[in-house]
Amino acid sequence: MLKNEFIYLEAQSCVNDKAVAGINRLNLYQFKKPSYFCIMLEDKNPQRTAIENLGEFGLIDHLTKNFEIKKKSTVKGVGDDAAVLDFQDKHVVLTTDFLIENVHFDLSYVPLKHLGYKAVIVNLSDVYAMNAEATQITVSIAISNRFPLEAIEELYSGIETAAKIYDIDVVGGDTTSSTKGLIISITAIGEADKEQVVYRKGAKPNDLLVLTGDIGAAYMGLQILKREKEVFKVNPNNQPDLTPYSYIIERQLKPEARKDIVELLEQLEVKPTAMVDISDGLSSEIIHICKQSEVGVELYENKIPLDPQVISTCEEFNLDSTTIALNGGEDYELLMTVDQKDFDKIKANPNLTVIGYVTDKDRGMHLITRGEQVIPIIAKGWNALSSENQE
Ligand code: ADP
Ligand code: MG
Repeated sequence: MLKNEFIYLEAQSCVNDKAVAGINRLNLYQFKKPSYFCIMLEDKNPQRTAIENLGEFGLIDHLTKNFEIKKKSTVKGVGDDAAVLDFQDKHVVLTTDFLIENVHFDLSYVPLKHLGYKAVIVNLSDVYAMNAEATQITVSIAISNRFPLEAIEELYSGIETAAKIYDIDVVGGDTTSSTKGLIISITAIGEADKEQVVYRKGAKPNDLLVLTGDIGAAYMGLQILKREKEVFKVNPNNQPDLTPYSYIIERQLKPEARKDIVELLEQLEVKPTAMVDISDGLSSEIIHICKQSEVGVELYENKIPLDPQVISTCEEFNLDSTTIALNGGEDYELLMTVDQKDFDKIKANPNLTVIGYVTDKDRGMHLITRGEQVIPIIAKGWNALSSENQE
C-alpha cells in the first residue's frame, strides 16, 4: 500500500493538545462532548473566523496559496479563467464526483480533514481504474455560514495531504454558498498512453477475475462509527475502546486509491483486459464488467480476501461476511480481468488475488459458495438514488 500516515492522529493532537498515540483514543476527539467539530461549527467558538470577513476572492486566495504545481502537463493552475493543460499525444481521462453532507458523509464522526482527503481519493480511484496516471484535480465547494474559515482550512489540509501523497496538482475549482450543508465536487484528470487505457469492456471468456487488497472493511468501519454515534447520544461520557476496529475504521475514514497497482501492472507488463474500481461493492462491479464485456463470471466465495477484523466484526453484528464483501462499498480496490497467459506474472503477488474466472455470457454470473452451491450474483450495492440513503 501507499504511505500509511494516520492523518486522524495528526488531527487529534492539534485538537487535544496532548499527542494521543493510538487509534483507540479516536473517541477522545470524535465523541468527547462537545466534539471538536461541533465546537468549530458553534457560533460561540472563539477561534471562529467568519468567511464573510475574507470575501470570496480572499477565501480562494487563502485556500489555494500553498498549492504548488508539480506536473509537467500543468501549464496554468489556479488564478486565471481556466486551467491550461498540455498532454501532448496522450489520452486524457476525466472523472467527477459529488459529496453531499448527510447523504455521503456525516460530520458528527467524519473529521473535515479526512473528508477532504477522501473526496480526493474517491476520484483518483476512478482514474487508476482506467489504468491511467492521475495528474490534476479541481475542487468545488458550496458552504453555508455554519462553516467558519477554520473548518474549511481543515477540509483543505486533507485535500493538500492527498495531493502531496498522490503527486497531483490542484488546478482550479469554484467556491459558492449553500443554504445549509456542505457540498464538495471534485474532478480528477489523468493521462495514459492510448494503448494502456483499460475499459470495463474487454473481458473475454477464460480470463482470470483478479482483485486487489481486501474488501468489506470500509462498510464495517462505518457500522462501528454509526454505532458509536448512537452510544454517544445516549451516554456522552462513554469512552469506547476502538482498538479491535482500528483497521476497518481507517478503511472508512482514510481510504487509499491504488496508484501502486497501476505502477505494478506496468512493471509486471500486464495489461488487464477490463478493470473497474470497487466503490459500490463487488457484485455490482462484477455486473458492470460482465454487462459491458458481454461475458459471464464464476466467483469463488472461499477466494474472496477478507481481513480478520471484517470477519470478527461481522460476527459481532451477526452479518454474513460474504454478503458484506459483495454488497458493502467504499473499498476503492481494483477489480480486473487478466488473460490466462499472464497468470505466471501475477500469481506470486500479495497485492493480487484470483477470485474467479470469466465465462461465456450464457453461463451467467454466479457465486460458488464454500459448500459448492451455485448462487446468481445480483447487485445490491449502494444505490445513490434510493430513498433509504436520504437522511
Ligand atoms: P470565475 O469567476 O471565473 O468562476 P473564480 O473567481 O471562481 O473564477 O476562480 C478564480 C480562480 O480560482 C480560478 O482559477 C478557479 O479555478 C480557482 N478556484 C475557485 N474556487 C476554488 C476552490 N474552491 N479551490 C481551488 N481553486 C479554486
Ligand atoms: Mg467561479
